[in-house]
Parts: sequence; structure tokens; C-alpha cells
Amino acid sequence: MKLLVKMFSKLANWSFLGAIVLVFNLFLLDIYSIYPCDWPCPDCSDENFVKVMILSDPHLLGKRKGHPVDQFTREWEMSIAFQLAKSIRKPDVIIFLGDLLDEGLTVDENGFDKYVDRFEKIFSIEDPIEKIFIVGNHDIGFHDRVAAYPYLRKRWEKAFNSSLAKLVTIKGIKFISINSMAIEGADFSLVQEMENYLSVVDEQLTKSNLPGDPILLLHFPLYRINDDICHEIDSQKGQDRLNNFTPGVESLSKRTSDNLLERYRPRLIFNGHIHSGCVVNHTKHDSQEWTVASFNWRNRQDPNYLLLQISPNDHSIVKCFLPTEISIVITSILCLITLCVSTKIMGKLVDSHSPKSQPKSKPKDNKKKDKENHKPVSKGEIKKRKSKEKN
Ligand SMILES: [Zn+2]
Repeated sequence: MKLLVKMFSKLANWSFLGAIVLVFNLFLLDIYSIYPCDWPCPDCSDENFVKVMILSDPHLLGKRKGHPVDQFTREWEMSIAFQLAKSIRKPDVIIFLGDLLDEGLTVDENGFDKYVDRFEKIFSIEDPIEKIFIVGNHDIGFHDRVAAYPYLRKRWEKAFNSSLAKLVTIKGIKFISINSMAIEGADFSLVQEMENYLSVVDEQLTKSNLPGDPILLLHFPLYRINDDICHEIDSQKGQDRLNNFTPGVESLSKRTSDNLLERYRPRLIFNGHIHSGCVVNHTKHDSQEWTVASFNWRNRQDPNYLLLQISPNDHSIVKCFLPTEISIVITSILCLITLCVSTKIMGKLVDSHSPKSQPKSKPKDNKKKDKENHKPVSKGEIKKRKSKEKN
């Protein structure tokens, strides 16, 4: 039993030490990745430039599909990386491009509230940083589900201050957010409601006398056949590049995409959903589309985010990569081995310099004496001893 307690306490000590090493290691690796990836235009200190951090697809796991260890590890990794990037870069605006919750469409009301609380703790954003949240299919479902269960959309819009379509102007820069799942599909009333919201945005843009074309934000990429046209470091690899997209599932349809490009003439478009990066130039409309990779290590080895510096007439973008999960694991193991070996060496050094301690076992002579003292004594011997004592 004593041995078991000793082993358990040793294991607890090492687990505690291991956790400290892991946190410290991840912290250092994140700083090592985040710090050199600075704002792309250091000379753009002009007040007209807005600093924007853009992330996509964090997919916070739910209870149905997620394993608690997977959930805890990845959310802890994302939280440390996000908070460090936010504190070091100090953006004016942070944009999430959808699929914030992996099971947002299946949880009940109570579960949804807890989910939102968790998201707000992991990705806490304090004033005065502005925030824009784009809805994804994992948050409320694809078109059919959104049409059949309007409460899924309503509760998400309430929690994340969103609507089907919205114009948000921040420091003179116009951002249009769009619900990709509602903009097209079989349900006429949902598509019509969406159209009403888009008409309001049209009106606001017409009335606005601010210079510069707007920025379009949505979850689905605009129509493309597949990812074979993507040549970013974080673009899809191998056969996945050639898998054709299904409009309404992997991207918007060509008709809806062309309509958005014609209608708003956005100079920049940002979306996510594919979990891999891509840049598409829509030369006809003088527009550039950025598909942002997932921020979660669960979805890819090298999560990343964008830093955008933008004024009414100019912009610069840089992609910032976080450390790969394999490098986190390898360096953590190396740190633990180093710690273990150095602890043993230090222990031996201390022992060799300390005064020799008393041996735990009794000396052999004493043992002999003990044996003699405990030898059985005969009655005759006892009588002899007593007579000696009298004399
Ligand atoms: Zn998605």
C-alpha cells in the first residue's frame, strides 16, 4: 500500500511538472511564431489605416462528436495562440469567418448558451477592439436546416450580434457580412428574406459618401470548380485539390457569386469553410478573394490567420502561421527528457557533496549481540545467574 501511495505521488509530481513544461513550451513556440509576423505595412501609421485580424473555422468541439481530451488540448492551444496574437499585434478589428462551433446546429438551448460562454472565454475580446462574426454551416446548418428550424439562426444572430446581411462601417472601411447558407436554396421565403436584407445594404451603400469599395465577408468561398487553382503554402494537397466543389455545400453557385461581384464590386472578399488557404483574383471585377485556413490544430497541422492593414484606397495582407502540432509534441518531449536527466544529475551531485548519512541497517556486531540477547535461556542457567547476583 505504502509503495502504491509513493508511486502515485511521484506520478502526480511528474504530471504537474509535465503540464508546466507543456504550457511554457507552447507559450514560447507561439511567441516564436507570432512575434516575427508583424503588420504588413509598417509605414502605414496613417490614421486612415485600420488593423484587422482575420480567423476562420475554430470549430469548438461539442459533446456528441468531440472527445474531452481532444477538446481540452485544442481549445487550450487555440486560446494561448489567440490571446498572444491579440496582445502582441493589438488589432482594431477581429473577424471570425464562421464555424465557430462544431455542433452549434444540434445542441439544445442550454447547451448553446454554454457553448457561447466557452467561445467567449477562449476568444475573449475586450473593448475597444471591434468584432465581426460570420455564421457558418456548423453554427446553424445548411440551407434546408436553416429554413426548417429558424430558431437555430435567430439564437446565433442574437448571441453574436449578426443578421442575414449587414453593412458595418469601421473607421471609414465598409464591411458587408453575408449568411452563405441563406442566400440561395430551395426555400423561397428564406431567400426572399435574405434579399430584403441585401436591399437594405444596397440602400445604405448608395447613401454612404465614404470613399473605397466594400469588403465582403462570408463563410462559403465564391464559386470555383475545385482547389486546383489555389497555390498558397496552406492550400489543399494531393487528390483533395481535384475534388469538385458542390455549389451550396462547398461554395456558392456561379450565379450567386457573379451576382455578388456585380452588385457590390468588393475589392476584397474573405471566407473560410474549406480549412485550407486559397487566393483567387477575380480580374474582371478587380477583386481579390482570400479563403482563410482553419485556426484549429484539429483541422490542420499549421493553423494560421491573416493580418490586414486597410485604408479606403489601399491595403496589405500577411498570413501568419502558428507552430505545427508535431513541433509542439517533439519539443515538449525533449524538454521533459532534459528536465528528467538534469534532475537526476543534480540529485547525484548533491548526494556526493553532502556528509555521509547513517546507514539504515544495524551493524553486524549489534545484530550478533541482539541474537545472543534473545537466545532461549535454560532453567539451570537462570539459577546460576541468580546465585552469582546474590554473591
Ligand atoms: Zn463550414
